[in-house]
Amino acid sequence: MPNEFLTKKLSTQTSSSISFLSVAPGKVIRGSQVVAAAVEDIVRLGKRPLVIAGKHTLAVVEKQLQPMFNAESLNIHQAYYSPDCCETSLQALRKAAKEHQADVIIGVGGGKALDTAKLIAHQLDLPVVTVPTSGATCAAWTALSNVYADDGAFLYDVGLSRCPDLLILDYDLVQTAPKRTLVAGIGDAIAKWYEASVSSGHSEQTIVIAAVQQARVLRDILFQKSVAALQEPGGEAWQQVVDATVLLAGVIGGLGGAQCRTVAAHAVHNGLTHICGKDELKTGLKKSIHGEKVAFGILVQLRLEEMVQGNQLATTARQQLLKFYTEIGLPRSLDDLGLGDVTIKQLQKAAEIALDPKSDIHRLPFKVSLEQLMAAMVSTTAPMDTKDTMNSFSVGGLGDEVEE
Ligand SMILES: [Zn+2]
Repeated sequence: MPNEFLTKKLSTQTSSSISFLSVAPGKVIRGSQVVAAAVEDIVRLGKRPLVIAGKHTLAVVEKQLQPMFNAESLNIHQAYYSPDCCETSLQALRKAAKEHQADVIIGVGGGKALDTAKLIAHQLDLPVVTVPTSGATCAAWTALSNVYADDGAFLYDVGLSRCPDLLILDYDLVQTAPKRTLVAGIGDAIAKWYEASVSSGHSEQTIVIAAVQQARVLRDILFQKSVAALQEPGGEAWQQVVDATVLLAGVIGGLGGAQCRTVAAHAVHNGLTHICGKDELKTGLKKSIHGEKVAFGILVQLRLEEMVQGNQLATTARQQLLKFYTEIGLPRSLDDLGLGDVTIKQLQKAAEIALDPKSDIHRLPFKVSLEQLMAAMVSTTAPMDTKDTMNSFSVGGLGDEVEE
């Protein structure tokens, strides 16, 4: 018995006193035309890289990557992730990496290519380099990969042992991406504030408080600079916004770790991926990108806070976001997301997945019913309505954080 007690005590101590943080990549190289300068750092990690990218992306950015492909010290093999960051691709890529005897993985592309590359490196215990080609997500930074089904439906995420060993942020590369990707990146990054303030706004832990405050700073930078950034791609404001969506958003995930998690906005995104997959013909619904769905999800989250909690500060925050979304072109409604023709049945399916028992939506400080979630999803553009606040019991909780 004493032994059993000791074991129990030890395991409790372990779980409360040891925590792992993957705060940042080993090194970040950023600037214009920086690929040539990064070759030396890649060689330090390995000499037989497997480059994982999307076929289309690689064709577009091949010229900028020439210094890497031409480097005599590197024996590069290319492979494509297709159809998604999914089990099928992962299996084929693990095989490709082994056949090439890869000693380092280089991911080139948007969130899905980078998530695939990071996960392959994690599974094979190899170093990984990320080269983002858009400002659409902070996947180049984080120690996390999202895994989807072949048709693009979100399945699960995997926490990785560390952030990438090297991140190469070449602004010229990022500038090759369509404007829509940076707009989506702004939506994904601004969600950090609305989700972190709910999941961790009352934390007493120094590092988590720091993460939440960084999320507030990130939101303010995006409010201030996004319009100017989108008007002049490659300009000063544009670079600062790319740093915000690719790097600072990653810092918050790294600092906040598991405790500074996503809440309803990403849960709604996850649900929506199950109804608007890749195949428009099959679903009859248009495809949208990650940050667009997340941006819509923030409005749904705020709408829930209004409807369920009677939180007037959430109403104000939603109106502020609706104005911002209009200015920069983020979706304000299901219709804007290309889901104007969604059926009640499809909407219910998305809501049910968002309400899965393991979903982060349950980090909201109140219970959400299927009917409430569906109602919130169809009313994201509702005008300020005093009736919403009639059944208000409390404006406590996250109220003060949402206000600013
Ligand atoms: Zn996201």
